Amino acid sequence: MPDLVVDRVAKEFPTRAEPLVVLREASLELSAGQNAAIVGPSGSGKSTLLHIIGTLDAPTSGSVTLGGENPFALDEPQLARFRNRNIGFVFQDHHLLPQLSVLENVLIPALADGAPAREIVERAKDLLSRVGLSERLAHRPAELSGGERQRAGVARALLLRPALLLADEPTGNLDRKTAAAIGSLLVEMQRQENTMLLVVTHSAELAGHLDRRYEIDDGRLVPA
Ligand code: ADP
Ligand code: MG
Repeated sequence: MPDLVVDRVAKEFPTRAEPLVVLREASLELSAGQNAAIVGPSGSGKSTLLHIIGTLDAPTSGSVTLGGENPFALDEPQLARFRNRNIGFVFQDHHLLPQLSVLENVLIPALADGAPAREIVERAKDLLSRVGLSERLAHRPAELSGGERQRAGVARALLLRPALLLADEPTGNLDRKTAAAIGSLLVEMQRQENTMLLVVTHSAELAGHLDRRYEIDDGRLVPA
């Protein structure tokens, strides 16, 4: 059985008039080591779908299972724990905390369990070296370039060895050359870590780095 099963997910947002139907029947399966891009124009529902797969929002109908578990059956504290352990997020805007060093930022996912153990700190340093930031551990985010900040974001997302790595327009704020480097890095790190990777993007170039491509067409996922 695939590790991620998205089965006929629908999402409607209530409005004062008719509900806004964003997703109708979006289905997708991924196993460890597999990656896919979800492309489509702005407003087609890419972020909505990624939020649902990331357990940040519940579907109106349909189901998501990750590692055989239905996250939406969990209560809020259990769900937060499940998400922290199983899902890594890379955002368009890096979401690094300005007052923390790069190393401290990468350790954030471990802080839910108290002060990070030595192995976790070693893991963070190893990831930072693999994303090319071994000389930047004590820098603050403001002292990094945009590409370096996104590299730190990738390291942070992978800290707890998530089964699933999700990225929403991860190169949206970067120049073309830096974007290409981050696209390659995401896939390379995903392969090394043997996670699943889903990237949402309107960039055909970034989508070209991934093994499979889907688009959202009238609320359904179809091969692009
Ligand atoms: P994309 O990421 O492909 O640009 P989104 O998933 O962000 O698209 O949005 C899809 C549609 O759903 C848009 O029309 C947007 O306005 C609407 N939408 C997204 N989130 C909400 C919300 N929380 N409430 C109401 N409408 C929303
Ligand atoms: Mg979006």
